[in-house]
Amino acid sequence: MTSVYDLHCHSTASDGLLSPTELVNRAARQGVTHLALTDHDTLQGQAEAQLACQAQGITFIPGIELSAGWRKLCVHIVGLHIDLDNPRLRQGCQALAIQRTERARLISTKLAKIGIPDAYESIQQHIGVSMPTRAHFAHFLLKQGHISQLQQAFDRYLGQGKPCYVNGEWPSLNEVVTWIHDAGGIAVLAHPLRYSLSKTQTRLLLTEFTVAGGQAIEVVTGQSNHDQIQTSAQWARRFNLAASQGSDFHHPDNIYVELGKLAAMPTDLKPVWLLHYNQ
Ligand code: AMP
Ligand code: MN
Ligand code: MN
Ligand code: MN
Repeated sequence: MTSVYDLHCHSTASDGLLSPTELVNRAARQGVTHLALTDHDTLQGQAEAQLACQAQGITFIPGIELSAGWRKLCVHIVGLHIDLDNPRLRQGCQALAIQRTERARLISTKLAKIGIPDAYESIQQHIGVSMPTRAHFAHFLLKQGHISQLQQAFDRYLGQGKPCYVNGEWPSLNEVVTWIHDAGGIAVLAHPLRYSLSKTQTRLLLTEFTVAGGQAIEVVTGQSNHDQIQTSAQWARRFNLAASQGSDFHHPDNIYVELGKLAAMPTDLKPVWLLHYNQ
């Protein structure tokens, strides 16, 4: 049987709309054989996903997508094959939960000031133990009829420079990579083309990421086209990084992104999973 790897996706533990079990069951139906659930800044969904993977005969890879500060930007670092009991990583997630809750309250206050009250109270009823993200506010705005598409939430209210934008106080790139290493994991720079960086800035980011000990870069995501894959592959070769792939699936409503449905990775690259199994 051919292996199908999906090493980046989200559940209700952060801003996904499927529970970890529903997500794993969907992955199984799509033919995924190796799955990493990588929720934003939390390990809450991992135990449930692991059990569901066992039930479905899928190889479970413990994962996370951590928010990291880099030169006033927030970049995302996926950690794969992490020890879920690692104290340093767990402490980091706890600090991020507090920070994200404070940020969510500030976003809510800003929304109230422009005439949209009770946003935090409303999303809190839905999120339970999960991490509040801007995506939760986007879904709230959609449900309340303030927007007709999720993207409009970022374009009008929540994106950088918009009236309800609140910057997060993220741990540094170095810190985040150190947490992942401390937990025995592999640090992967997520979706390198989504930060709107120039070539020079991308080179700087990848230099600092590799110096910090980052080992891989996402080359194929659920939305990547041919040119984007070629560009990311060039960065992988140039910095001698292993290559990862993951759909970044959040919810079934996005018909363009599906678990396990990924374009082929250029064959000369070293897949990130070989890095782990050859350790
Ligand atoms: P946060 O990490 O709280 O800043 O929330 C960011 C999340 O919002 C991302 O992980 C995406 O899932 C979602 N998102 C969707 N569209 C956008 C967009 N245009 N800009 C930023 N985030 C977006
Ligand atoms: Mn997200
Ligand atoms: Mn991301
Ligand atoms: Mn993601």
